[in-house]
Amino acid sequence: MAEQVSQWEAPRQHGIEISQAQRIAKDGFIDAIGKTPLIRMKRLSEETGCEVLGKAEFQNPGGSVKDRAALYVVEAAEKAGVLREGGTVVEGTAGNTGIGLAHVCRSKGYKLVIYMPNTQSQGKVDLLRLLGAEVYPVPAVAYDNPENYNHQAKRHAENMDNAVWTNQFDNTANRLGHLETTGPEIWTQTGGKLDAFTCSTGTGGTLAGVTRYLKTKSDGRVKCYLADPPGSVLYSYISSGGHLTERSGSSITEGIGQGRVTDNLKPDIDLLDGALHIADEKSIEMVYRCLDEEGLYLGASSCLNVVAAKEVAEKLGRGHTVVTILCDGAYRYADRLFSRKWLEEKKLLGAIPKHLEKYIVL
Ligand code: PMP
Repeated sequence: MAEQVSQWEAPRQHGIEISQAQRIAKDGFIDAIGKTPLIRMKRLSEETGCEVLGKAEFQNPGGSVKDRAALYVVEAAEKAGVLREGGTVVEGTAGNTGIGLAHVCRSKGYKLVIYMPNTQSQGKVDLLRLLGAEVYPVPAVAYDNPENYNHQAKRHAENMDNAVWTNQFDNTANRLGHLETTGPEIWTQTGGKLDAFTCSTGTGGTLAGVTRYLKTKSDGRVKCYLADPPGSVLYSYISSGGHLTERSGSSITEGIGQGRVTDNLKPDIDLLDGALHIADEKSIEMVYRCLDEEGLYLGASSCLNVVAAKEVAEKLGRGHTVVTILCDGAYRYADRLFSRKWLEEKKLLGAIPKHLEKYIVL
């Protein structure tokens, strides 16, 4: 009879080498944030003759790259003494930051209050509530209106003792998280042998923190590019050498696109080597390609990043290594990304290659 061994003892299970480091259990949710794998995208690497590598941020325990920022903004508030035992975290968000904060707050014993525009799906409200957050959907008004959800979040925290508005857009603890973790991980995982990095921006934390680290370590050698969706002003801001225009247009890529240069982006935006504007048609096609060719079930912002990595790889030519960020999975967006009706409404059905239409199942 075969000897029973625990997975912790077996050096090789199902052909997978379990390294010494991997055998050590993570100490709770927070310790499990980061150290995500770098995944070589096989078909894209073959196609471009380059190494196209995706940082698998969807493997963070809360499911997205925002777990890192959530941890850093909460710990910055603790260090500053504005958040103490039994305290409350308040944030304006409809997306991954809220989910990351909910997990971090539960694991540290804080209360979480979330303000979001009432145009967001009931599914998002339900998810945050079941993760323990108190959620206030408020009228969706512009940023310059004092009733905007961000300002309401700020006021809520100001009116409470032992409470903090984490302010993900302009709180630079966000970019520090990527400067201290995501950037060094990419550098170590590639042994410093990377030529370029592409990344989109919501708050700018990921792009700025990683860019600063890679530029510093490589003495400016690693080229860093913003990947920008329609409806964001940053592509034209960077391409025009710093001219800020009015926001116009929109995109299907949730969580990214920006109307201003946030405080997270400000110190590092000049380090960028350029920007790529990626149309929704390309991002959605890549969602289907990543699923079919790479077996990766990715959200649209991840796939926009991948398109940008592919374009940079093609520009640099064979033999180069390009790294990008796989921000989250497609799970929360499946009812849209794989729905025929939604694709038709967004006029994106034609962007899905015929042989990939089999994935339009909703
Ligand atoms: N992709 C997704 C799915 C996101 O939720 C976010 C954050 N809003 C981003 C990308 C952008 O990350 P950052 O805020 O670090 O710019």
